[in-house]
Amino acid sequence: MKTIQKMKNEYKNYMETTPPHAVFRAKTPYAVITAYQSGKVLFQGTRAAEEVRKWGKAALDHSNKKNEKPTHEKQPPQTLFDESHIGSDESGTGDYFGPITNCAMFVPQDKMALLKEIGVQDSKTLTDEKIKELATYLLAMDMPYSLMVLKNEKYNQLQKQGWSQGKMKAMLHDACIKNVQAKMDKETSYGILIDQFCMPHVYEKHITSEGRKLDPHTYFMTKAETHSLAVAAASIIARASFVKEMEDLSKMVGFPLLKGASPKVDQQIAKIIRTKGKQFLPSVAKVHFANTKKAEKLV
Ligand code: MN
Repeated sequence: MKTIQKMKNEYKNYMETTPPHAVFRAKTPYAVITAYQSGKVLFQGTRAAEEVRKWGKAALDHSNKKNEKPTHEKQPPQTLFDESHIGSDESGTGDYFGPITNCAMFVPQDKMALLKEIGVQDSKTLTDEKIKELATYLLAMDMPYSLMVLKNEKYNQLQKQGWSQGKMKAMLHDACIKNVQAKMDKETSYGILIDQFCMPHVYEKHITSEGRKLDPHTYFMTKAETHSLAVAAASIIARASFVKEMEDLSKMVGFPLLKGASPKVDQQIAKIIRTKGKQFLPSVAKVHFANTKKAEKLV
């Protein structure tokens, strides 16, 4: 809120009518800035980025205490992103159909400029076609990597055994990272960055429950793919693999399966139950998702 007061003062010559739940609204030559009582500040307009820059992301995030994620000791040092490191990311966890795929990749410092140049970035902002193209390119670049696919049958089996999805993800990340390290020079140790999906102590609890140890060079951060080229590369390869698996499963069921877990997915589940029977689902879906029950009502 301190930042918002400062902003209010800074923009005092540009004030507009205050909308409901807002602290103020200002219109500058660059942007329309609306600060809300919740601490959220909205910047709109084609040159809004220039206004955002003035305040710094840190200051703004701080003003928004409510949405702040709990922080931890295993945030990567800022220097990590420009150094050779291993990145790890998974795909398919929120999708009813299809497996979970995970990739860990070692990106050496001297390949980073090239990766940037070819457009390696957050896989969520890329089309499936672009992802496939970049993945093919990355896999041909001779960087140590490991890609694992947790197929639906196995996923459902582990889930029935009592594994949470978080534990499955942790074990996939751990296995891929171990595989990459096995391909590398044992004398040197590199930083490892995992795109964070749970708190580090929870991750550690999962892997130690299976007799594994957390490498002391492991770091965790959310949205790591926007900072680390290694995580971005890993996320592209994991996503490309997921897309490919979905294409194969679609051929198996006879129509293009949808990603995600929307009501449209429920319709597809109902169609599969009608045409192939309920016993077919575990081979193509994460059956513990609430979608299964919703679809059963549609049959
Ligand atoms: Mn991720």
